[in-house]
Amino acid sequence: MSVSKKLLQKYAELIVRTGGNVRPGQIVQLTISVEQHEFAALVMEECYKAGAKKVNVDWTSDAQSRLNYRYAEQSVLASVLPWEEAKMKQMTEDLPCRIIILSEDPDAMAGVDPKKLSAVMQSRSTVFKPYRNAIDGKHQWVIAAHPSAAWAKKCFPEESEEDAVAKLWDAILRTVRVAEDNDPVADWKAHVEFIEAKAAWLNAQGFSSLRYHSANGTDFTVELIPGAKWEGAGVTNPVNGAFYIPNLPTEEIFTSPMAGKCEGTLVAVKPLSWNSQLIEDFSITFENGRAVSCRARKGQELLERMLKMDEGASMLGEVALVPKESPVNQCGFLFYETLFDENACCHCAVGMGFKEVLPGGDDLTMEQAQERGINDSILHVDFMIGADDLSIVGVRPDGSEEAIFRDGTWA
Ligand code: ZN
Repeated sequence: MSVSKKLLQKYAELIVRTGGNVRPGQIVQLTISVEQHEFAALVMEECYKAGAKKVNVDWTSDAQSRLNYRYAEQSVLASVLPWEEAKMKQMTEDLPCRIIILSEDPDAMAGVDPKKLSAVMQSRSTVFKPYRNAIDGKHQWVIAAHPSAAWAKKCFPEESEEDAVAKLWDAILRTVRVAEDNDPVADWKAHVEFIEAKAAWLNAQGFSSLRYHSANGTDFTVELIPGAKWEGAGVTNPVNGAFYIPNLPTEEIFTSPMAGKCEGTLVAVKPLSWNSQLIEDFSITFENGRAVSCRARKGQELLERMLKMDEGASMLGEVALVPKESPVNQCGFLFYETLFDENACCHCAVGMGFKEVLPGGDDLTMEQAQERGINDSILHVDFMIGADDLSIVGVRPDGSEEAIFRDGTWA
């Protein structure tokens, strides 16, 4: 491993303490690749030090997923076995802290029929959805990353495997603010305070719509849900009061806009990696709140299929603000992983919205949230629209306006 044990331990501690904020007596559900078993042990130990009752590990493997898709029938892969469903049901009772460590090869599914991939995902997600809804907003979770050789080579194809992994480690640790000589927990406290101050300002403005403009063709207006909050950085689990940070890194302040109320075109400024495949140089045009057309230099068919996954896949579930000075953007390369790439600059997401942004949203069913304007879908896909010259103007119900972003950053 190219990174010192001390740094790895600091990172594991940050994930468990600041990210998931594992509570004494809590069960932890850790999802991590078999390749990262050494780091898994570090994370497990930090969980137990934090008082976890039990750490259960779900091991993943790109190689095994590939073999399944190559040899097993679609209907077999798409079906959910009774024990898998029982496990999801158990999670709705245990409300574990979920820790997910990503290290997938962005090309893991290259060569797999994209129709097979999305059909399997669609049918499995549909079975899991009621359980997801049942634990949504009631448990802590955190997603962080660990380099794999394949992922690192994808980001740095010119480098040797060893150098590529070292470079990806550097970038990941930089974006999560872990260094030899700093106190990541204190740095995160300051970062969270900055984000919360910006979110509080946005909430005080009471904007009813946002207007986006940039020279690349982005020309877009979206309505916001009256009373819906802007959120960022952390969330409090209402069941046990634990403040947790679901994404490491995170730079965004986001809300869910009014589903079905947007007009115009959003032009992506970075490629989108979806289902392990790339969509490049694309734009999506909305009318009456729905994507009515899209253009992509690469991945056109994939993008079209994505926007048709279900009713809500053509509507927005999220708008998010990220200044272009973000450390992820400063790394200056594409991570091929939304966890990082969505924290590079401003973005929107098609698909499921967040009911938590509604006042009392945690207690609403998804149907109730939908009635108030939150979009529902089996997917949630972020795409980056934060051009260097992006301007975003907030409009209040009385028609008054305020610049929010100018030239890709806070006005
Ligand atoms: Zn986002």
